[in-house]
Amino acid sequence: MIIKGGIVYDPTNGIFGEEMDIFLEKGKVVEEAKGKEIDARGLLVMPGGVDAHAHVAGTKVNTGRIMRPEDARSGLEPKTKLLRPCTGYTVPNCYAIGYRYARMGYTTVFEAATPIIESRHTHEELEEIPIVDKGALTLFGSNWEVLECVRDDDLDKLAAYVAWGLRASRGYGVKVVNPGGGEAWGFGTNVKGLDDPVPNFDTTPREIIRGLVKANEMLNLPHSVHLHTNNLGKPGNYTTVLDTMDTVKDITSTRDRQVLHVTHMQFSSYGGTGWRDFESEAPQIAEYFNRNDHVTMDMGQMIFGNATTMTADGPLEYNNARLLHAKWSNHDIELEDSSGVVPLVYGRKMPVNAIQWAIGLELALLTESPWKTLLTTDHPNGGPFVNYPEVITLLMSKAKREEEMATLHELVAKRTVLPTIERELDWGDIAVMTRAAPAKVLGLAEKGHLGVGADADVTVYDLRPEKIDPARDHKRVKEALGRVKYTIKGGEVVVRDGEIVAVPRGRTYWVDASVPEKDAERVQVDLVEKFEKYYSIQKSNYMVQDAYVTDPVVVKAGVI
Ligand SMILES: [Zn+2]
Repeated sequence: MIIKGGIVYDPTNGIFGEEMDIFLEKGKVVEEAKGKEIDARGLLVMPGGVDAHAHVAGTKVNTGRIMRPEDARSGLEPKTKLLRPCTGYTVPNCYAIGYRYARMGYTTVFEAATPIIESRHTHEELEEIPIVDKGALTLFGSNWEVLECVRDDDLDKLAAYVAWGLRASRGYGVKVVNPGGGEAWGFGTNVKGLDDPVPNFDTTPREIIRGLVKANEMLNLPHSVHLHTNNLGKPGNYTTVLDTMDTVKDITSTRDRQVLHVTHMQFSSYGGTGWRDFESEAPQIAEYFNRNDHVTMDMGQMIFGNATTMTADGPLEYNNARLLHAKWSNHDIELEDSSGVVPLVYGRKMPVNAIQWAIGLELALLTESPWKTLLTTDHPNGGPFVNYPEVITLLMSKAKREEEMATLHELVAKRTVLPTIERELDWGDIAVMTRAAPAKVLGLAEKGHLGVGADADVTVYDLRPEKIDPARDHKRVKEALGRVKYTIKGGEVVVRDGEIVAVPRGRTYWVDASVPEKDAERVQVDLVEKFEKYYSIQKSNYMVQDAYVTDPVVVKAGVI
């Protein structure tokens, strides 16, 4: 296939708006090829989009669906000859997830949190999400074996357990949520900061973070530790985040990437001493990113309207439910973590929500390098992923931001600096934040770019970058971003003129990391005891078997 004459943005390869042809063959980008021509003359062309953080599969998503039956009616799309029926807006069904990403030009999405014990369910749902390639990050931050290894300062054993946990869950990377807090929640409490001890384990969040970051680097994993910070969602939490990022600054990355990815930073950039004097501290966070290169973040942009929050941060969801008098689901995941689900509504006239909305945008606009700020809504926590076109147009148009701010609670002007920000991102910045950077942050060498050897995942937008001004024509831009001209996945046209025309199966990435035999054996001794004494199921029923991942991409890593 030849994609003819597009205006190409491929930041990884230093291409920013050059007219060129792209050749695809056998699912890859190649130097030269013959075959079907796609007319992209004058149209905006980018690599397929990569979402590095969304909650799209697993038990918590299903809990969200059960708790919000009305959500199903809001996104109905009937069955067609080609397509399965779709339901849902904040918690869409599996088919809708694949189709809707594809229609926006996205070809890869990573599920942000799966406990090992529930990973078979996660993969069953990932298998049912069509078109896009996938992966899942495995939860380690309150896991008993992790806490014991950290307490004993036994990094070799910790690395061996992480390697085993990734294999057991067919997971791609190390996710840490409110480290230690999930365990504390089992006793009805929480950890209050980096040095607050975890009940019964004689260790602290700081030690857990440092231990897992070191183990992650020992294992040479493609992705860094992916962290949801302690105190997330609380006024004044920005100091916790700054301290967290500083505490891993001395650890060297063994790959060409960050040592820590702090996720949905919007929820961790809060000032004030309580909800009454709640304010944005995004400028402080952005300044830290402008001075440091060892960390990356994603926005976690908030979208007004319905959201279904779901997280392994159990105590956070308890607080949300109490504050909002909302429905609440609470879950203790055996030896591994806690979690909770709370449906809620973000309101334009609610001061806290208006400020949260501004914070996400401030983070992206005040951080100079787009390589450090991935575009996410933490679907469906900040809002559903189908709103990415909305977020992109907000970043590209000050006029649009002003239109929106006029509809919000007036405190947004006093408690944030958003009204003073002139910056408008360009297509190069957007291509970085939605493709090149997420692929680099995740360590996906064949995604997020269009160099020879890259996956043949390409988006052609119905937009002429040389004729349209996104700062002014933001309505037209948003529409075009939501229904692309073409999405090409693995060399096959899957979307044409905003409609799905083919439904291939996606592949699932997971990481197989090798460790020294003696450490692997020491872990097995511990696990035999834990399965006998504590787990409700046997180890043989716990592991994700090959049958659960029918089209795997196994990425090798390990202790050198
Ligand atoms: Zn998340």
